[in-house]
Amino acid sequence: MKIHEYQAKQILREFNVPVPEGYVAFTPEEAVEAAKKLPTSIAVVKAQIHAGGRGKGGGVKLAKSLDEVRQLAEQMIGMKLVTHQTGPEGKIVKKVLIEQGVDIDRELYLGVVLDRAKSELVMMASTEGGVEIEKVAAETPEKILKEWIDPALGLQAYQARKLAFGLGLSGKQVNNAVKFMMALYNAFMAKDASLAEINPLVVTKQGDVLALDAKINFDDSALYRHPELLELRDLDEEEPLEVEASKYHLNYIKLDGNVGCMVNGAGLAMATMDIIKLAGGEPANFLDVGGSANVETVRNGFKIILKDPNVKAILINIFGGIVRCDRVAQGVIEAVQSIDVNVPLVIRLAGTNAEEAAEMLEKSDLEFTVATSLADAAQKAVEVLKN
Ligand code: ADP
Ligand code: MG
Repeated sequence: MKIHEYQAKQILREFNVPVPEGYVAFTPEEAVEAAKKLPTSIAVVKAQIHAGGRGKGGGVKLAKSLDEVRQLAEQMIGMKLVTHQTGPEGKIVKKVLIEQGVDIDRELYLGVVLDRAKSELVMMASTEGGVEIEKVAAETPEKILKEWIDPALGLQAYQARKLAFGLGLSGKQVNNAVKFMMALYNAFMAKDASLAEINPLVVTKQGDVLALDAKINFDDSALYRHPELLELRDLDEEEPLEVEASKYHLNYIKLDGNVGCMVNGAGLAMATMDIIKLAGGEPANFLDVGGSANVETVRNGFKIILKDPNVKAILINIFGGIVRCDRVAQGVIEAVQSIDVNVPLVIRLAGTNAEEAAEMLEKSDLEFTVATSLADAAQKAVEVLKN
């Protein structure tokens, strides 16, 4: 789950991670009231959307007076902000963060993420803050310093000091950075985060170290123990089809292609997407209908897939291990009879009772293409697009 910058900063505050003073505002009036509370005459107006790159896209601006705060808030609230992370369709800004202007000396990068290959968290730091860290990682990976964190020991002070020295900090900056890193790690662990990214981490002219930007993602599987985090969820920022699918308990992720996929099991769903690409097509979604592919789940799956206007064909790829293929076939037949499936359908059912299933589909008056193997299914799904 993702949250907004202002929410992430509130969490950081609770864990004594230094952040600038700031308040969220939903209207230009609230923005002015917020700016009045700040300790600085310069306020920064920051669009709150679940995407980065706001600065370059015009979503982060300095205001030197309350009038300017009002003007900028008027401009930003309701605007469509396009950044390299939103895609060309952009995101509508519903609120802004009004934050104290910080006297920046250096902009650094600090992140914590799970290194799946090592099964450990890794804290990453770089002098190349403020810019796209993905670019730094691709072009000059040596500029990213890493400390892996032993889960039994937690982040050790010596590791934080190593990172601080690596960033070229000196004097009291080192202590401030070490405290910052330890506190960030504590927040990460306590909230079951999956990613924390501070870009930029700034050093001020006075030697303070604070988070100018903050992005925190949480592990969805751990949300059940954090009811306070669930309240921070902003459905406006999420893909509407994914929100709807989650109501049906379907694991659905929207993608940009035109072949809709209905698959049981996450592994088979991934393999199906791969093989569609191999056959020259583009999957429109990831959809795992789960172990019990019955009429209800299949029908809900169709509903979600068909709401995506890009979908021009649907590939059903079900392996009957726990679920029997004849049950799935029955589900598909009933589902298609009850809703209008207006795109070509390619079906591959393999496993228990696959022959009975094939016979049932054959006897039904459904229009569809049967596929035998995984590769055959992908090829046929791509072929039907051409007709
Ligand atoms: P994004 O990463 O979405 O572009 P940031 O929060 O990182 O947004 O802001 C972009 C840039 O704006 C920062 O790198 C920094 O230079 C400047 N900035 C952001 N917040 C402040 C602030 N409170 N005071 C001064 N400058 C700021
Ligand atoms: Mg940033």
